[in-house]
Amino acid sequence: MPKKINIAVDGHSSCGKGTLARNIAKSLGYVFIDSGAMYRAVTLYMLTKNLKPDDLKSNPTILNDINIEFRFNPSLQFFETFLNGKLVEEEIRGMEVASWVSQVSAIKEVRDFLVAQQRKIGLEKGVVMDGRDIGTVVFPDAELKIFMTARPAVRAKRRFDELREKGKDVNYEEVLMNIMERDRIDSTRAESPFLKADDAITLDNTDMTREQQAEVALQWARGVIAAG
Ligand code: C5P
Repeated sequence: MPKKINIAVDGHSSCGKGTLARNIAKSLGYVFIDSGAMYRAVTLYMLTKNLKPDDLKSNPTILNDINIEFRFNPSLQFFETFLNGKLVEEEIRGMEVASWVSQVSAIKEVRDFLVAQQRKIGLEKGVVMDGRDIGTVVFPDAELKIFMTARPAVRAKRRFDELREKGKDVNYEEVLMNIMERDRIDSTRAESPFLKADDAITLDNTDMTREQQAEVALQWARGVIAAG
């Protein structure tokens, strides 16, 4: 059996990290974890309970009431996000959560709570995790670190098309502004800002198809695995 590795896929908002990470995991038979879904689930919890960031800072034990799970849906061939036993995959991808998630993710207590869970998942190796701080904070020893990016206008167009396909009433400008604002907050926050790890390889997919980028990333992964 070849040695299993952990793969960190960090990148800007809506640059297709999740799709790439999922494809790599599928090809290698690894577990895929969408860490952004965890931050989105905490955000949804706060919105439904009408909690503000300050409530969490003054009473971080609130977080103990939050249980996040990923359950595999065989018909969709997809891990879906459950918050306290309820399927929330659709809700966490909407614009309301998107407009709050970067503020929630900047809270130290939230990061400590989720990073501990993410590190635990990585102990067994064979994990592909996508996010903003995977190569820098969650898995600083990941054997392969990919830093993804693409031009903002291209990212916004992809996310806009995706939301429209799902029947969401959004406009392109709103999606572009959200992406740029999330990039700004994520990169400038005090706690684990979104940075490229020194040993990460950049993958700019502005002009690449899904298949092309998956092919490139898989070659990198297979190279690292073969080098043992
Ligand atoms: O990856 P996705 O765009 O779904 O992530 C949503 C938000 O969650 C990001 O904009 C960021 O604020 C936060 N996030 C984070 N750290 C991660 C993953 C996501 O701060 N590892």
